[in-house]
Amino acid sequence: MSSFTPDPCAGWVGGIDLGGTKIEAVLFDSALSRKTLRRRITPRDNYSDLLDALAEEVAWLRSQSGRPDLPVGIGVPGLINRQTGISVTANLPANGHPLAQDLAQKAGGKIVAANDCKCFTLSEANGGAGEGHEHVFGLILGTGLGGGYCLNGQLILGRNDLPGEVGHYGLPAYLVATHQLPLLPCGCGRVGCVETLISGTGIAQIAKTVTGIALSAEQVAADPSEPGNVKTLQIWSELTAELLHTIQLHLDPDCIVLGGGLSNIDEVDIILSKALDRIALPSVRRPAIVKPAFGDSSGSRGAALLAYGLTRKD
Ligand SMILES: [Zn+2]
Repeated sequence: MSSFTPDPCAGWVGGIDLGGTKIEAVLFDSALSRKTLRRRITPRDNYSDLLDALAEEVAWLRSQSGRPDLPVGIGVPGLINRQTGISVTANLPANGHPLAQDLAQKAGGKIVAANDCKCFTLSEANGGAGEGHEHVFGLILGTGLGGGYCLNGQLILGRNDLPGEVGHYGLPAYLVATHQLPLLPCGCGRVGCVETLISGTGIAQIAKTVTGIALSAEQVAADPSEPGNVKTLQIWSELTAELLHTIQLHLDPDCIVLGGGLSNIDEVDIILSKALDRIALPSVRRPAIVKPAFGDSSGSRGAALLAYGLTRKD
């Protein structure tokens, strides 16, 4: 079950995926079909240049659509305080700024922003790999580790937009002890968060513990039968299964859609399904664990769904 129903009266919308390295601007019609797209390098030196670049993309989307009031959604790699609009983002010069408000002031019209993992989940829950499920959890296994939660196609945001920020759960003590894994500092300021070992950069830490060499996730995945890589992936899947188990205990979703670079590991959906089966509580039904339908395109598509929400409030 999802909430998105194409509405020809709602008009077109723009979706911008703002990444640490590139900006992708996509124009969608009212059925969320992609009409046109362009990409550019993300300015990283200062906030003013970043705002200018985003304003140019908004103007381009509006010129392409013929609608000077085209609503535009933006997916941002960071947390956004809903009360103040202030962004907390380590990889952009927007940290501490109300990005959507400043951009709306500069470009005019309706602009909304949300965390990129939330955009991914919104996209996959509406017409994506989570379509047809009531409770959908999007889990991004990328450079970092994050996610989002949709109920009936709507994001659940809680008091602080935190649902889905599972990268900052603590690591399971028995696996840390069993495999003699390191307790590492996390970007959030705490020590021993699951993100430090389950993310793309985390796999390198596991590989370093197992083999003494910090192989990248791509290197490990490229040679999955090498004994050190077998052990690395086994430990990674055990840790990730514990995370999935914790998500199940909290939210009991019908479907978990995997995203990010690690979702490209061969048969990762099957590997994690089996790993969760080994540790799940007896007699509970496992959520469907699936690869994404839209992958990297979900960022701009989810951002467009945010903008689509703006059109429905007209
Ligand atoms: Zn953390």
